[in-house]
Amino acid sequence: MTRTVFRNGRIFTAATDLARQWTHSLAIEDETVVAIGDAAEARGGEVVDLDGALVLPGFTDAHTHLIMMGQALGQVALTDARTLDDIRELLREARAADPDAVVLRGRGWLFDSVPGGAPTAAMIDAVVSDVPVYLDANDYHSCWVNTAALAELGITRDTPDPLGGAIGRDADGEPNGMLFETAAVQYAWGRRDAATTDAERDEAVERMLDAYSRAGVTGVVDMAFNEHALAAIERAVERHGGRLPVRVSAHWLVENTGDLSRNLAQLDRVVELARRPASPWLRVIGIKLILDGTIDACTAAMGAPYADGSNAEPIWPLRDLAPVVAAADAAGLQIAMHAIGDAASDAALTAIERAIAANGDIPRRHRLEHLEYAAPGTAERMARLGVTASLQPVHADPAIFANWAAMLGDERVDRAFPWPEYERAGALVAFSTDAPTAPHDALANMYVAATRASALDPSVSAVHPQYALPLADAIAHATRDAAASIGDADWRGRLAPGFAADLVVIDTDPFTAGAASLLTARPLMTMVAGRETFAAAREDTP
Ligand SMILES: [Zn+2]
Repeated sequence: MTRTVFRNGRIFTAATDLARQWTHSLAIEDETVVAIGDAAEARGGEVVDLDGALVLPGFTDAHTHLIMMGQALGQVALTDARTLDDIRELLREARAADPDAVVLRGRGWLFDSVPGGAPTAAMIDAVVSDVPVYLDANDYHSCWVNTAALAELGITRDTPDPLGGAIGRDADGEPNGMLFETAAVQYAWGRRDAATTDAERDEAVERMLDAYSRAGVTGVVDMAFNEHALAAIERAVERHGGRLPVRVSAHWLVENTGDLSRNLAQLDRVVELARRPASPWLRVIGIKLILDGTIDACTAAMGAPYADGSNAEPIWPLRDLAPVVAAADAAGLQIAMHAIGDAASDAALTAIERAIAANGDIPRRHRLEHLEYAAPGTAERMARLGVTASLQPVHADPAIFANWAAMLGDERVDRAFPWPEYERAGALVAFSTDAPTAPHDALANMYVAATRASALDPSVSAVHPQYALPLADAIAHATRDAAASIGDADWRGRLAPGFAADLVVIDTDPFTAGAASLLTARPLMTMVAGRETFAAAREDTP
């Protein structure tokens, strides 16, 4: 048996009882915390002097995309590019650095960085035209490609728009290099997935696991799982000796085919996977339905039109949605619904209400993802229905807010990302990053949560600081409540006797040094099930 006593620390337990939120010592036996406080000091074992360092429960990133994140970490990063010239320079450099590559992939560009928010293939062709170029937008709801990519995808003026998406076109009807929503999914990402080898996916998984371990993350919830991702994570479990450095839970992506029986048929595989014996390392727990797009691209389904008078149809209209939600609910699957606009969240909750009416009082733990603009009263309705608010502080980063606000352009902007509303209403709030649509860094995410200032560009001033949360609450939402959102409330997500020894030691204490220190604070050590998954090299530590 391995026994360790951590002493002399500032240990934040994330207990709901405020009197038990902090302690100084923690005893671990094998995979489990067995005592805290003075009781831990009395235990035997190897003693580790924390020397006043801050310890938190390991973070759970409650909404992420594991394979895409790992792939993104290997692509040209465009988020810091503030102008079209910046973007072009990065593409030119990347092409020159790897002249034998047959494709160039980038990610994270912002609509704000492109003239008029209207990217074209010609803008890329001017710097890279000899190979296909695919650039995923920061929100991953659209993809910007060059002319060679359009040719590779076989997209012409005669190609129809897919259900729930659009091929951007110029005034003459020619494809202009933008693929929105399901057009990006089916063409750009479909092509990428078909061209990606298992070896490349394995590399992506290792990059992802390493990045999360370095960030103090010990659990993740994938929000668009599929057969490729399942197989890749299963291979990772094998490579890592029957365990993983990060606990993986997953929601299977179910797509609206427009045909009820084909939609329902997709649930069969998920039910089969969810019934497998529970593993603490990899579990499929439910389904994910993407009800709408994003406000930035005017593809989120709003109750009232955008500033330009347009609006978006939901990808899952209620008539398609309700029977799938009812069937998944009856099967005991957890349902996560991407709902950014208020028309989408309204439809999602109506579908859940109908499922409850049809299926009665059975265990259920459904959730709405993002909720960027929800109508007043939504939080209370969610609390009544026991629906989790799955929120991404990094999506409210003020550096990417101007375009968001301009798209709505009215008093709705005042209600952007109002996290305290969900707390006040009594809904469970689970924080996450939605990587790779935003950086996966847990501490930077906490900075935005606790300040509403920008982690991307600290020179940008805070927007809606009245919606910032106390740091202890923010961390609890990203640890305890994130674990609770997938049904793990009784065994991980906080530091208490009987709970999993999943924790992170941080080199700086933002509770005393101030929230700004979250931007420079670094994990010293991450532990999952009592085993170190990351340790900062001695020379990195101050
Ligand atoms: Zn997502």
